[in-house]
Amino acid sequence: MKKLILNFGAQIVNEAITAKIILKHKVLINILRANVQEEGGVFLIEVPDEHCEEIRAAFESEGVKVERGKLIEKQTPSCVNCCACYSTCPVGAISIDEEFEVQFDYEKCIGCLNCVDACPFGAIVIQK
Ligand code: SF4
Ligand code: SF4
Repeated sequence: MKKLILNFGAQIVNEAITAKIILKHKVLINILRANVQEEGGVFLIEVPDEHCEEIRAAFESEGVKVERGKLIEKQTPSCVNCCACYSTCPVGAISIDEEFEVQFDYEKCIGCLNCVDACPFGAIVIQK
């Protein structure tokens, strides 16, 4: 599965664009996070690998800005590998390597921000 970040502008945030695309393309879209306000909305969705480009194009044709990328990022110079973030991740995206350094798997991350709150050193920053 691939993750896409969808940015809906204020003019289209109340339209049923996601439902329309699911029905038209008959692709299962997993909505992992949604933050909808009057001034716009941001969705984090997961789509099957083989449909990623098709679904990206479908959202873009409806005026939705689509991005891929990290939701959070560890700032390595600030991280002291205290592991306070490790157990807060609900999807196992944080691991400890053989050098006892904390590593993040950004493909697994669903952007819950638990680790951001848990880090006492502000070493994890929000990308979106
Ligand atoms: S944001 Fe949530 S899902 Fe992503 S690495 Fe941190 S705890 Fe895990
Ligand atoms: S809580 Fe912060 S300082 Fe500690 S290991 Fe995680 S990112 Fe590094």
